[in-house]
Amino acid sequence: LNRRLAEFGTTIFAEMSALAATTGSINLGQGFPDTDGPEEIREAAVRALRDGRGNQYPPGPGVPELRTAIAAHQQRRYGLTYDPDTEVLVTAGATEAIAASLLALVEPGDEVVALEPYYDSYAACVAMAGGRRVPVTLRPHDGAFRLDLDELRAAVTDRTRLLLINTPHNPTGTVLTREELSAIAELAVERDLLVVTDEVYEHLVFDDAVHVPLATLPGMRERTVTISSAGKTYSYTGWKVGWVTAPPALVTAVRAAKQFLTYVSAGPFQYAVAEALNLPEDYFTALREDLRAKRDLLAAGLEKAGFAVFRPAGTYFITADIRPLGESDGFAFCRSLPERAGVVAIPNAVFYDHREEGAPFVRFAFCKRHQTLREAAERLAGLR
Ligand code: PMP
Ligand code: GLN
Repeated sequence: LNRRLAEFGTTIFAEMSALAATTGSINLGQGFPDTDGPEEIREAAVRALRDGRGNQYPPGPGVPELRTAIAAHQQRRYGLTYDPDTEVLVTAGATEAIAASLLALVEPGDEVVALEPYYDSYAACVAMAGGRRVPVTLRPHDGAFRLDLDELRAAVTDRTRLLLINTPHNPTGTVLTREELSAIAELAVERDLLVVTDEVYEHLVFDDAVHVPLATLPGMRERTVTISSAGKTYSYTGWKVGWVTAPPALVTAVRAAKQFLTYVSAGPFQYAVAEALNLPEDYFTALREDLRAKRDLLAAGLEKAGFAVFRPAGTYFITADIRPLGESDGFAFCRSLPERAGVVAIPNAVFYDHREEGAPFVRFAFCKRHQTLREAAERLAGLR
């Protein structure tokens, strides 16, 4: 393994899902729903397979039906206008969109400023691109992890190439506010930075939280690569259909990298996701309501078990503090949790360069059946 990748080892999601399997634990580690998404969307995929749509290489940028549906979604929800032919690119999940964006836009030695904790592939992809990551730590403040705008400002240097943003944020569940995003936007404009923003949890926001796409803010559309994916929104994480929306020059750049990663993927599923994007608003409302109830169920269980819970405004993850349980090392805690309680969680420290900042936090996924969450809560109640 080369020096760029040597520090990364095996992704925590693989390690923890394997641990769940070998110990027979409830897996609240890796984030994937234990119930599939809408049946009509699955049927749409079956129809595409049967009718021979997408069984051979689809077009490099993605099938036109999907690109049109993505552009229509951005227009309808956010008032963002993208040309499906020149400003939309379909990728193999958001994961490839992240990789291709960084490989296309980062020069060796460039600095990439990212929120910490960061989704693990960000660090690996910055490294593969030869860049240097500069993490800005989100810290607990009034029950949520928040961004210190002065620290963000101070992290930008003459070598900064781009800001890598994620909202709603994995693993903390923070939804960046319009004020925070405006400050990020002002900084990007002032320092003439590109922004790559990972918005895969755009539809998973609760209570009065609102997802504001960075590209909607003044001066941002022309410098922003927005990434999303069907995995979270439609509960088909195995299909790996993601996308990028950006101005033509940026899409062209990302596509230049993407064409040599997978070239294309998921032919029949692209047609199904096109139909999914056109589902009526009720679908998203029901999804949010279902997840909000699950969040509340697991949060109550974790609180009862003695954790300090950060109730997330978005995503399907809860970050919890283990210190009230008399613990301080999230890694050790998560490695022993299957044996102690038959539950698997993710130690947030893996998402930090400043590991000590993340040490006492662990992440639980709540995109699981009510019965599964109740059972997990009962098991965790025996911890103290
Ligand atoms: N970004 C974030 C923040 C995620 O949580 C995930 C999913 N785990 C991804 C990207 C990857 O999405 P996909 O499954 O579409 O590749
Ligand atoms: N995005 C999901 C998570 O954060 C799963 C990621 C993965 O398996 N690579 O848990």
